[in-house]
Amino acid sequence: MPRLNIKKHTICTLGSHCALQVLKGAKDEGFKTLLICKKTRQNLYQRFSFIDEIILVNEFNEMFNTTIKKIISRENLYIIPHGTLISDIKLSTLEKLQIPIFGNKHILKWESDRKLKQRLMEEAKLSTPKEIKNKKQIKNLSIVKLHGAAGGKGYFLAWNEKSFNIRCKKLIEKKIIKSEDDLYIQEYSVGVPVYFHFFYSPLKNDVELLGIDRRYESDIDGLGRIPATIQQNINLDPTYNVIGNSPLVLRESLLYDAYSMSERFVAATSRLVKPGIPGPFCLEGVYDNNGNFTVFEFSSRIVAGTNLFIDGSPYSTLLFNIPMSMGRRIARELKLGIKKNRLSELLT
Ligand code: ATP
Repeated sequence: MPRLNIKKHTICTLGSHCALQVLKGAKDEGFKTLLICKKTRQNLYQRFSFIDEIILVNEFNEMFNTTIKKIISRENLYIIPHGTLISDIKLSTLEKLQIPIFGNKHILKWESDRKLKQRLMEEAKLSTPKEIKNKKQIKNLSIVKLHGAAGGKGYFLAWNEKSFNIRCKKLIEKKIIKSEDDLYIQEYSVGVPVYFHFFYSPLKNDVELLGIDRRYESDIDGLGRIPATIQQNINLDPTYNVIGNSPLVLRESLLYDAYSMSERFVAATSRLVKPGIPGPFCLEGVYDNNGNFTVFEFSSRIVAGTNLFIDGSPYSTLLFNIPMSMGRRIARELKLGIKKNRLSELLT
């Protein structure tokens, strides 16, 4: 059998989000690495020796211009999608793209469409917050969200129709939304937020938990610094804009259910969105005081919270004898796919 020369294979991503983790992991597994980078960020990314090649662009959608497309269409090059690829490139463009993308690009549409997202979570028998179809039905504490992945920006709390109207009007005045139809109301799940980083390996037919984080959101997470008596007087309207992430470990007794949830989710994706969910995904939700988890969101690709664990996490250490980041785990799966001639199960 010919010896595998992994250096002939390239892992490519966009310079943003978790690019450093992805390309470091790729290099550690022996791949060549290529970064598509905005000119304004060149000074940052050129500092890292594990990036072999940088293509400079003004905007990321230039990656479809003839010259750049030719470079990235070369044989044995795989693109790793992350949050910036999804926010900066239209899903319809990605769907048509001939260059191999790691994971299932068709599931990204399910992540960005609230109805499809709900259908997938129900298929996986995940417990989810109740949707409130009309502002007149707001009876309990509710969270009001903008459509699409806004990273929590502009989200607000409402507890009745009046409180909804006041905050909705402010968003319209600031031209953040056009009308209240741009908002989605969901029951607020009381408890503590937890974000699970899973990896599904089709080649091993196994789900791995590689890390857990919690998000640090402004200004909801800063409220505890202001005494309640003062909060009442200063007309505070907290929102949920992600600023950073902190690591988390769960009570061990909760892990069994976490793994079951992830397995049901993987099975549901393979039924509803072929070929399922090869690679990283994140289940995001809230634990209540009985240890029950309500999932308010999933991400069907690598999330930025995995940047915490470039050197591995307490959970990846239980599974691997070397520091295993999510980026490296992706590269390792690709390497196995190349060795076993099963790449088609990992790419779309
Ligand atoms: P991203 O795409 O970055 O995950 P998003 O725009 O889809 O963000 P969500 O993850 O749905 O937004 O929500 C942002 C934040 O709002 C969460 O991190 C959490 O703190 C809070 N949140 C969302 N839904 C609920 C809920 N039902 N109950 C309690 N808190 C919630």
